[in-house]
Amino acid sequence: GTPTALMVGSGIGAEKGILIRNGEAVQTFKDVKAIAFDKTGTITKGKPEVTDMITANGVDEKEILYYAGSIEKGSEHPLAHAIIERAKNQSISLGEVKDFNGIVGMGVVGVIDGEKILIGNRKLMVENNVSYETYEDQLVGLEEEAKTAMMVAKGNKLLGIIAVADPLKEDSIEAIKELENMGIKTAMITGDNKRTAAAIGKRVGISHVIAEVLPDGKVDEVVKLQGQYDIVAMVGDGINDAPALKQSNVGIAIGTGTDIAIEAADVTLVRGELSGIVSAIKLSKATFRKIK
Ligand code: ADP
Ligand code: MG
Repeated sequence: GTPTALMVGSGIGAEKGILIRNGEAVQTFKDVKAIAFDKTGTITKGKPEVTDMITANGVDEKEILYYAGSIEKGSEHPLAHAIIERAKNQSISLGEVKDFNGIVGMGVVGVIDGEKILIGNRKLMVENNVSYETYEDQLVGLEEEAKTAMMVAKGNKLLGIIAVADPLKEDSIEAIKELENMGIKTAMITGDNKRTAAAIGKRVGISHVIAEVLPDGKVDEVVKLQGQYDIVAMVGDGINDAPALKQSNVGIAIGTGTDIAIEAADVTLVRGELSGIVSAIKLSKATFRKIK
């Protein structure tokens, strides 16, 4: 009965925008006990926008955007796009960057007009002896609003803070609620800071929030969840989600994400909607109930 079940499963799946690359996934879906989600581009739209800027005394917003925007030209990160957009909107012409360096899990650095410019999180500032203690309360405030706050520094002087918000996809809350109602545990794995991640996790109703994970660490987090829940699906869109997608029992890629994630996955959500996962599980359960 299995080949028929797979054909039925794949046919209906395609209608719902679920593309199945590995037929076994149709069968595994019904046994999934926990699902791990990447944050940016998976639970959220992956289109962050600048919402707040805080400037240090005597520093102009345009100066911060000039330095930050110039450096971020070298980055592919969604955070970089948000900053460049903001700089463009203010008609700031960006400068030449030398010695660009992206530092995983921390931010980006480079030299502009002979000055060392840094943009990133607390870890990056600590590593470069930039003190930000007087801004700690403001950082925390932004993070509790589910925003990602980045600091911009010139040498070891803090110029200011740029905060971005990435809206949730329209169906994320509903999809996660349905999964939890089906008895499936949900987890979010992200490189973002703990406070922002917790705020987003709370808004979307995720039960486990695993934050400040380096890209290489996502696989280990899936392994840990497998130790706890046995059969675990992983959903992601990024290059650095690919190993975790492979490690999981059902790898689910976001169709609007990177080709590398799609190739690593068993299933693709063509339109990127998380409700596709709910449909896939229902479909798997229904298909294998009928055929038996
Ligand atoms: P995620 O994909 O979940 O955002 P990353 O590991 O890519 O995780 O990033 C972790 C953190 O490092 C970000 O939340 C941000 O604070 C900082 N960061 C990474 N890339 C950049 C960048 N291009 N500009 C500024 N900050 C960055
Ligand atoms: Mg992502």
